Amino acid sequence: MRVFAACLVTETNTFSPLPTGLASFRDRGYFPGGTYPDHMLFYAGPLWAARQRAKERGWVLSEGMVASAQPAGATTRAAYEELREELLNDLKRAMPVDLVVLGLHGAMVAHGYPDCEGDILSRVRAIVGSRTVIGVELDPHCHLSDAMIANSDLMICFKEYPHTDVAERAFELVDLCAAQVEGKIHPVASMVDCEMIVTMHTTRQPVRGFVDRIQKLEGKDGILSISIAHGFAWGDTPDMGTKVLVYSDADKSSGDQLARKLADELIGMREQLQAHYPDVDTALDQALSVEQGLVVMADSADNPGGGGAGDSTFVLRRVLDRGVSPVALGPLWDPVAVRIAFDAGIGATLPMRVGGKTGPTSGAPVDAEWEVMALMRNMQMSSLSGGAIGLGDCACIRTNGVSVLLTTLRNQALGTDLFTQLGCILGDQRIVVVKSSQHFHAAFAPLASAVIYVSAPGSVPIDLSTLEYKNARLPKWPLK
Ligand SMILES: [Zn+2]
Repeated sequence: MRVFAACLVTETNTFSPLPTGLASFRDRGYFPGGTYPDHMLFYAGPLWAARQRAKERGWVLSEGMVASAQPAGATTRAAYEELREELLNDLKRAMPVDLVVLGLHGAMVAHGYPDCEGDILSRVRAIVGSRTVIGVELDPHCHLSDAMIANSDLMICFKEYPHTDVAERAFELVDLCAAQVEGKIHPVASMVDCEMIVTMHTTRQPVRGFVDRIQKLEGKDGILSISIAHGFAWGDTPDMGTKVLVYSDADKSSGDQLARKLADELIGMREQLQAHYPDVDTALDQALSVEQGLVVMADSADNPGGGGAGDSTFVLRRVLDRGVSPVALGPLWDPVAVRIAFDAGIGATLPMRVGGKTGPTSGAPVDAEWEVMALMRNMQMSSLSGGAIGLGDCACIRTNGVSVLLTTLRNQALGTDLFTQLGCILGDQRIVVVKSSQHFHAAFAPLASAVIYVSAPGSVPIDLSTLEYKNARLPKWPLK
């Protein structure tokens, strides 16, 4: 079997003030064809899985480009077209192939391209023709479009949020697609739009039970695969929304019925899924009322993993003004403050202006006398897939019992080693504030006696009524 694999991944927050250019891909991960290293990164699942299966089964694998940018605003037209053409040229060189597996996000928007994945897949189909199988792994925070479904044979979303199952879903994709190439199965798509947009944390009910149930439905009664596209509310595109995608084995009516039934179940639980988070002061009150142990507060509105800048100060400002301590907060993106901290050196105390630089959704910068506690060049953080993620040069600075973890590269809090590598012991803190919507949960929740999700201002606000939609098809519950 001749197989081609490649990945082009970013999630676009169309409300984010930060553009996504080529440098954003180079900062996070850019590997020209044939240069992807010997470890799994969470945006390279299908290529990784195809590489393992190729070794086991003697396939001829052509590895194309792998590129991923930290979520931010729309990708520039020039960056998108350059990366897309690189991927397509890699594919043309690999032709003829029996199977194409791609890692895409599903919520990538570029200037002039509201549906990048639909655009990529239609071009891939045009190159390979109708007989080659095209399989795609998607993030569930995707905008599932008709163009994506029409131009692929099988698409599988991660089931877990936090996304701890990227590798499992990638192997599933590669195995099912290989079975299709061998003529053993004939996947047929059934998609139902739930006409809503919700947040689905699989760490709690009712979503936990729902995901466990749908997983048990796969592999029997002619149902090959079930994906729930949660949707991504911060991408203002016509295809935004929560959708159910079922692939049956050549049994369209069973697939349609199951997709409708599952969509109705999700619609029935939507009131329970709607997130109501306390504002910053209420969240701090709640945290301070917890008598023992560590409280983790998630500042989801400034989650770089959702396109937030990662330098907002709304929570930090209130922590300092209220004199709450000991508190650790991070990661806060501030390359200028990191540079100053490195110049000052460990042990120095100096006035420094921290955060609040990107725009109004970042709040005002915080001026204080900070002590430089620790510094590290090219720091890495552990991630959900096990691969390390680069944070660039990092500094831990402290004022009035509040430690702030500064980074040079934008990222959300994924591993607790974000703090501990710089000597910030989480067990010594009363509160740790993380910039993350939900991925923090996998590593941080086990240490916490309480987890509080905060509704602060920012470019990934949980209160969607604060966003001005221009392209999404409305109404879409709860949006009017
Ligand atoms: Zn996601």
